Amino acid sequence: MSENSGFHIQTVLILAIFALVFWLIHFFNKRQPFPGWVAVAYSAALAAYVIDSTRHESTNIGFIYASTSLFWIFSLAIAKAIYVRCNAAFPNVLVGLILSSAITAFAVLTFVATDISIRSVLVSVVAAILLALALPPLWKAGGKVIDRALFGVVATVAVIFIVRILFVYSLHGLTLTEQSYSQSEYAWILHFTSGICALALAVVLLYAAGLDMVWHYHGQSNRDPLTNLLNRRGLKGLYNAVRNQDRNEDYTRVLILFDIDHFKRVNDQYGHAAGDKVLQRVAKTASGLCMDQGQVARTGGEEFAILTDWIPLQTAELLAQHICDSLRFVAHPELATDHKITASFGLVVLADSDSLSDAMDRADQALYQAKRNGRNQVALAQAA
Ligand code: GH3
Ligand code: MG
Ligand code: MG
Repeated sequence: MSENSGFHIQTVLILAIFALVFWLIHFFNKRQPFPGWVAVAYSAALAAYVIDSTRHESTNIGFIYASTSLFWIFSLAIAKAIYVRCNAAFPNVLVGLILSSAITAFAVLTFVATDISIRSVLVSVVAAILLALALPPLWKAGGKVIDRALFGVVATVAVIFIVRILFVYSLHGLTLTEQSYSQSEYAWILHFTSGICALALAVVLLYAAGLDMVWHYHGQSNRDPLTNLLNRRGLKGLYNAVRNQDRNEDYTRVLILFDIDHFKRVNDQYGHAAGDKVLQRVAKTASGLCMDQGQVARTGGEEFAILTDWIPLQTAELLAQHICDSLRFVAHPELATDHKITASFGLVVLADSDSLSDAMDRADQALYQAKRNGRNQVALAQAA
């Protein structure tokens, strides 16, 4: 069975388009190496396919080595991409062992006990094993639909890599030779299934890269770039997400608002850049002290909010007082040593009916009470 050149051109185009798309995603979104590794994989697949499908009887052994290495690089780069995406440690030692054994066996089957049929089994089995390395981190990542889809498609492709070769040999026996390869049914099935597998895998990988971008930019639009805290929009999202959670009888949710005292003087005396450093340190201090008792947000220039978890009111008061007491001891090398940074705090117990802006208004009133009483202190708002 011979392949027509239209099929080859189509497969080459599919691989080239996906390689290009993943490189573009990578370069426009440099912080995410996942599309970069997928781009490496598809570039390798493209080169492997071009070399393998233009191979003929007199093809130099160097080409055979090149197409095999590129096929393995494809599997390896897909596995690496998935490890990177799952934040899992790549099994370098295991990969080293697999590759060194595979390369040795390949050399033996090429130069010592030459057997192209067995060698083609080896090539496919190694590619399948390298690809299957991606399965454990995907299994552990588990919960999301995209992780399950990736698991399914990677497992299917790995199985196809092995089944297709067993299928051909079960029909025709181990009859492949270097000379018969390019016109063989084996080559046709190899190229056909490679095209289908590459396409199916690319679609799911592209979907994953797209989702990552959406999550990334969605996360960014909820964060303040200077302090990396939630911004007002992020706080609103959090507030709406938690307001319907089950109430705990003895516990309460509290909104703590705090505003740095006389912050304008910091900018006026030491410059805006020094002011920014102070804001970053205040943000870090408050987040560190909150630990898992609440989320800190930057709701305005030098104004912050803390939405607590379900905690006793007294704990919330102690938390606010603790942050208030601690801020003045934070060192700010940009400022004169006797220039202490303090803040005033307004604390409000959240009622079920409160919208975020209702709660902020009441906390604001308490905060200005704290300012009027002399700053650097905590004031509790009236109940709703
Ligand atoms: P009070 O104790 O009454 O809160 O006095 P204040 O000086 O802190 O309050 P005021 O509202 O007069 O000044 C706030 C200042 O915060 C003014 C503004 O220049 C500064 N500011 C707001 N956002 C930023 C920022 O992102 N970086 C820096 N460096 N300064 C900022
Ligand atoms: Mg202010
Ligand atoms: Mg202020």
